[in-house]
Amino acid sequence: MENSIIVNGLRFTPFLSAAQIHEQVRRVASEVRRDLEGKRPLFVCVLTGAFIFAADLIREVGITDCEVAFVRYSSYEGTSTTGQVKQLLGLKENIEGRDVVIIEDIVDTGLTAQRMVADLKERRPASVRFATLLHKPESSRTGFCPDYVAFSIEPKFIIGYGLDLDGSARNLPDIYIHEEE
Ligand code: 5GP
Repeated sequence: MENSIIVNGLRFTPFLSAAQIHEQVRRVASEVRRDLEGKRPLFVCVLTGAFIFAADLIREVGITDCEVAFVRYSSYEGTSTTGQVKQLLGLKENIEGRDVVIIEDIVDTGLTAQRMVADLKERRPASVRFATLLHKPESSRTGFCPDYVAFSIEPKFIIGYGLDLDGSARNLPDIYIHEEE
C-alpha cells in the first residue's frame, strides 16, 4: 500500500499527519490554559510514549510558572495489553495542594490511567486532570474518561509521535496505524 512502512515485520499505514497532530495539540493546549491560567500546574509526563506530546503540549500551553515531572508505568507487550499495570518510576515531588495535569500518549483499556490517577490522589493534590493524545473509547474496560483528548480513534494499534512497537518508531513525526491483513 502507498506510503506504508514495515516495523518489526508489521505493516503500518499513515493515519494522522504531523500537521493534523499539531492542530489538535494547539486546541488541547488552549483548553488546558483556560482551566489552569493563574495556577502553578505540575505537568506529569508518563514515560516513555508521552514525551513528544508532553514537550509540544507544555510549550503550547505557555504557562511559564509550571513544573514538569515524570512517571513510568508498563502494561503493554508487543501490540496488546497484559492487563497488569506495573509502576516502574514514581513521583519524588510533594504534590500536596498542587494542580496536577497527567500527560499520557494513549488511553486504551483505561487501566493505566485509572491506576495513575488513584496513585496521585492518595498524595492529596488540589486537583488532578488527565490529558491524552489518543483515546480508544471502544477498548475501555474501566469507563475512564480523560479530561482532554486530542484524537478519539478506533481500537487499532498505533505507532509514531512517541508511540512505539517494542521500542521502535517513536521518532516518526506522523502517526501510523496497524491494519490487520
Ligand atoms: P491501557 O492501560 O489504557 O490499556 O494502556 C495504556 C498504555 O498502553 C499506553 O500508555 C501505551 O503505552 C500502551 N498502548 C495502548 N494502546 C497502544 C497503541 O495503539 N500503540 C502503542 N504504541 N501503545 C499503546
